[in-house]
Amino acid sequence: MVEGPTAKAIAIKISQKFEGETVKDIIVKSKRVFIEPKELLNKKFNGSDTLGKNIILFFEDNAIRVHLMMFGSIHVYEMGEPLLKPLERARLLVEGVRKKLVVYNAPVVEIDRREKILDRLMSTLGPDPLTEGWSREKAAENIIRFEREKIGTILLDQSVIAGIGNILRNEILFRAKVHPERRVESLSVEEVKEIVLACERLCRKFLELKVKGKGIKEILYVYNRYRGKCRICGENIKFYMQKPVNRKTFVCENCQK
Ligand SMILES: [Zn+2]
Repeated sequence: MVEGPTAKAIAIKISQKFEGETVKDIIVKSKRVFIEPKELLNKKFNGSDTLGKNIILFFEDNAIRVHLMMFGSIHVYEMGEPLLKPLERARLLVEGVRKKLVVYNAPVVEIDRREKILDRLMSTLGPDPLTEGWSREKAAENIIRFEREKIGTILLDQSVIAGIGNILRNEILFRAKVHPERRVESLSVEEVKEIVLACERLCRKFLELKVKGKGIKEILYVYNRYRGKCRICGENIKFYMQKPVNRKTFVCENCQK
């Protein structure tokens, strides 16, 4: 799953690679096409950005939203450069003057007015630690509202904090020293603050590494460390599937209370 920082790093790369292009042709295979794709013809590419795990490509007053989920990918090719996979398998092709942008396997490709795409995302997503609209207070408020739920499961809810996926939530809770099974109502104000702060720090750290093309494995304390020992206290890291989200969960029960 592409988490917020990975999506952002991809958006930064696409902004650079497709910069200066104007749409000369567009082919889209999607049910979420709310304006005539032809309307994008001759429009300039104004860069790409993210909200949560969504990548948005801007073309003047129009935009394309892409969600890569597990298997989607975006590529920018020089004209004439051989494609990675046959074009028939592409869900989106935007042909510019010198380059083409191709999206494969993404479950969501949506074309609409720029404002409509942004409004829909803003109304459904919580604050995103990687955008200017980030607010620690709002993030904490959103967490506290789910008092009966487990902190480990609500961190995956994109309406609480946008962009957090399974790797991040495991690492965030380790850094905040909070057990994923804790009910939100049992958390102290300090613990909620620590969780929110860890979200912010880790998202930014992940992004920094991804932009440099570096892996994140070095800074993982619990995620995917089956039968590993805690780097802080030396205890065994416990692995289980957390209910009801059924996601891989790693915890040091000595460090996380
Ligand atoms: Zn530990």
